[in-house]
Amino acid sequence: MALYRDEGVVLRSYKLGEADRIVVCFTRGRGKVRAVAKGVRRTRSKFGSRLEPGSIVDLQLYEGRNLDIITQAERVTALTNLRADLDRYGRAALLLEIVDATVEDGEANPALYKTLTGALIELERAGNPLVVPAFVAKFLVLEGVQPLVDACVRCGSSADLVAIQIHEGGVLCRDHRGGEAISEAARIALGLVFDGRVRHVLDTTPPEVAQELETLAARLVEQHTERRLRSSSVLYEQLQN
Ligand SMILES: [Zn+2]
Repeated sequence: MALYRDEGVVLRSYKLGEADRIVVCFTRGRGKVRAVAKGVRRTRSKFGSRLEPGSIVDLQLYEGRNLDIITQAERVTALTNLRADLDRYGRAALLLEIVDATVEDGEANPALYKTLTGALIELERAGNPLVVPAFVAKFLVLEGVQPLVDACVRCGSSADLVAIQIHEGGVLCRDHRGGEAISEAARIALGLVFDGRVRHVLDTTPPEVAQELETLAARLVEQHTERRLRSSSVLYEQLQN
């Protein structure tokens, strides 16, 4: 069996047998990897706590016939603030779910890896409310999707733009509306986020617009992937409270 090292983000894990877990990681070099962590459900396991969802870890693995086996896991960055704060953790869970839902096993995507780890570290550092929209914008661009936000994609009208639908290619006027409702302020801010001007949006956007952008971002991913994200409903509940 071949031994290899890679850095990865733990997306989720599930039980295997009495004491083990299967850990699903998004690694920098090999994309999504499912690997067995032996003995982690026993008390005082040395890497059980390092393999929680959202952890960024330096991994050593044995290549197995079906599943690889994790022999070492060292934290790259401790994400203590992120774990202590439900809002931040909810946002992190949404990012992990988006990656888990869209990345195939064994398909490396270094640009997405960098985007995900950058977003997790930013959530840890400041928990700013545009982390999710900024992540989603980069994610969609990497997927080849950049919605038009300045004019209705059906008729070209730049007035009365009230909705957005990723499959249509962007925003829609009142006559052609479909998909998700979008306010004027959120539409303008979304265009800036897609242009990478997140800092500017943070400085100029009122909290309610940032909140609209955050829920909208999750909806855009749902439109793109045509599946519901479990974490998005958790996030909406948190934002409503
Ligand atoms: Zn129109």
